Amino acid sequence: MNFHILTLFPEMIMQGLSTSITGRAMDKGTITVEATNIRDFSEDKHGHVDDYPYGGGAGMVMQAGPVYRAYEHVINEISVKKNNDTSLNRIRVIYMTPQGRVFNQRIAGELAKEDDLIFLCGHYEGIDERVLDMIVTDNISIGDYVLTGGELPAMVVIDAVSRLVPGVLNNDVSAEFETFHDNLLEYPQYTRPEEFMGVKVPEVLLSGHHKNIEAWRLEKSIERTKERRPDLWEYSKHNV
Ligand code: SAM
Repeated sequence: MNFHILTLFPEMIMQGLSTSITGRAMDKGTITVEATNIRDFSEDKHGHVDDYPYGGGAGMVMQAGPVYRAYEHVINEISVKKNNDTSLNRIRVIYMTPQGRVFNQRIAGELAKEDDLIFLCGHYEGIDERVLDMIVTDNISIGDYVLTGGELPAMVVIDAVSRLVPGVLNNDVSAEFETFHDNLLEYPQYTRPEEFMGVKVPEVLLSGHHKNIEAWRLEKSIERTKERRPDLWEYSKHNV
């Protein structure tokens, strides 16, 4: 799976994703991450990519031209890699914005089916609406709060999607039994030692009886979801 990110801060994306599990997946070639600097596509002699908002108001707005040219560059690169495949106009372009659909595990699963995804990261007061109308297919938010830029949100989405790409996690089944699978929170986990500061690991987990362990885990998942996420429980109780 190939992630292409249009950003003013490519080093932030590359540093953030090239460690730990996503970093190993990049080394193995299971995923590729390529950050394109929108500033490289400025036609201004000082490399400006933003200007004052028409109509007045606080802050600066990223200009349409550099964003559009950076997008065209990425599309051309992908097209060359794919031998000028004409289906490229179907590549999803995701604008990270607090005005988008709020990201969740279901959306991560949906995005993990794609071969290529383009992420557009805004900064300052956002991006000229005209270029957004031209290139964006999806608006995605990571929550109801406002951040300074789209880089952290893009990394959040890329991390969650990468974990669902076959071969990224050591054990492919582990993503299947996690929190939000079946809209339940995951059961509590324990590891060695068997006793920590006088607190023992639940007996059933030491029994080796797989059916009982499964039943205990489901019970704990339900209990925990009801307690911590009553909204999720309301939604999921008919699907357990
Ligand atoms: N003026 C914009 C508004 O009110 O919708 C907010 C701009 S924000 C300061 C700058 C950039 O950060 C946005 O263009 C977007 O790319 C990103 N961003 C901020 N909060 C976000 C969130 N919750 N989810 C996704 N992206 C976000």
